Amino acid sequence: MSNAKQESMSFREGVERMVDRAALAIGLGPDTTKVIQACNAVIQIRFPVRIRDKVEVFTGWWAIHSAHRLPAKGGLRFAPVMNQGEIEGLAALMSYKCAIADIPFGGAKGGLLINPSKYEEAELREITRRFTVELARKDLINPATNVPAPDFGTSALEMMWISDTYKVLYPEDVNKDACVTGKPVSHGGISGRAEATGKGVQYALQEFFRHPELVAAAGLSDGLTRQRVVIQGLGKVGYHCAKFLSEEDNIKIIAIIEHDGVVFNDNGLNIHDVRQHIAETGGVKDFPGGEYHENGEEALEMECDILIPAALESQIHANNAMRIQARLIVEAANGPVTYEADQILRDRGITVLPDIYVNAGGVTVSYFEWTRNLSHMRFGRLQRRYDELRGSDYANALEVLTGQKLEDQQRKNIVRGASELDLVRSGLDDTMRMAFQDIRGVMKNHENITDFRTAAYALAISKIALSYYDLGLAEPDGH
Ligand code: NAD
Repeated sequence: MSNAKQESMSFREGVERMVDRAALAIGLGPDTTKVIQACNAVIQIRFPVRIRDKVEVFTGWWAIHSAHRLPAKGGLRFAPVMNQGEIEGLAALMSYKCAIADIPFGGAKGGLLINPSKYEEAELREITRRFTVELARKDLINPATNVPAPDFGTSALEMMWISDTYKVLYPEDVNKDACVTGKPVSHGGISGRAEATGKGVQYALQEFFRHPELVAAAGLSDGLTRQRVVIQGLGKVGYHCAKFLSEEDNIKIIAIIEHDGVVFNDNGLNIHDVRQHIAETGGVKDFPGGEYHENGEEALEMECDILIPAALESQIHANNAMRIQARLIVEAANGPVTYEADQILRDRGITVLPDIYVNAGGVTVSYFEWTRNLSHMRFGRLQRRYDELRGSDYANALEVLTGQKLEDQQRKNIVRGASELDLVRSGLDDTMRMAFQDIRGVMKNHENITDFRTAAYALAISKIALSYYDLGLAEPDGH
């Protein structure tokens, strides 16, 4: 999946170099850095499935980068091109992401080499079930140790099949629903998981724009609403991100880049309509509300304020980084900017909000879902009506004390108890704000750290190092 041919290093090496850079900046010793970088375990699985009267052999991986906290958590992707190194690199990103977002999980990643569009739904279900059996029998799907989630090429549907297969294998496990996150709400999922990563990207951008000095340093003016945005990938992450930014922040999405090309509209694209068109036709070509061009890659370089890559890794690389015109790059995808491109962008003064912070919303709400599954109860179930009673008492008292009757909407706002979705969004917003402030804190405490990626890595590895020191798995410098 990566553009590695254009780079002198692989995706995993690129991630390791980013860690090296941060470790050097905060003075973390090379031994501790090595311990943090090492991928704890990776297993490759090959399994046969009979499809249309022929036996096909599939290849998949599950990599556990860190297990200092359990379960190890990571997305499970279905894609036609990937390799073990990429899965290991992506698992490492999960460790750093969990540390930044204060999620008590280790980092993992799974992958299955497959082009899902070639198979019928029933065939995909059979393949997913077989893969689940292989993983579960090796304890690589388990609520306590290894918990996958949706990623590129997978959705709530695959997570439901995984959960159901695990249930059949281990019906006595009282926590079986927690073996996977990102399930449909009707099958043990949580409200707000499907939108979570995209919503988190929106919260990250909103937080960035609360700091006028950072906005000015990025070379942007005006508020979030005035920005012109290009998005690559209108899948689960890109769609929700584009939808919330355009509907709630009134941002103009002026281009959407998809696998078959790009669609432009300087007045802003209607996200719902583009999504509908992709669902009906399989791509953005012939979308009536914009101008189409088949060269999507070139559109990454078009003039805009904010570029949001939300598809794949290694999209901005050594060969196109010099031509990127956006002032701010918001990494909704994992690893969309290679190590070499990152250096070029920094030299050019382009601000990058890094993946290990920006797309942490997915694992954050997965954490909420896992917790919900372990408690066997929907969030808010105990207090919602109680809060409504308290709100009603408060509204009545307000009317008596002021001698004025509240308007219906005012009363509704005061009385309303929080739904599960309200609580999930509130927890997600809080996580994204706190993580941003922690990253800013690193920049304030280290004059030599001036970019968000190095600061985010520094935050992550210093937290993981502390945990390793406590466990005696690494020694602080000088000991
Ligand atoms: P998805 O499969 O739902 O969507 C990916 C989209 O990218 C699809 O619309 C696809 O057509 C498009 N695409 C594929 N190749 C493309 C190309 N060459 N150019 C432009 N578009 C292309 O996947 P997703 O879950 O939205 O994941 C996207 C990225 O976000 C991945 O890097 C993933 O690892 C990362 N991520 C996802 C989550 C999550 O919760 N799903 C969480 C964190 C990070």
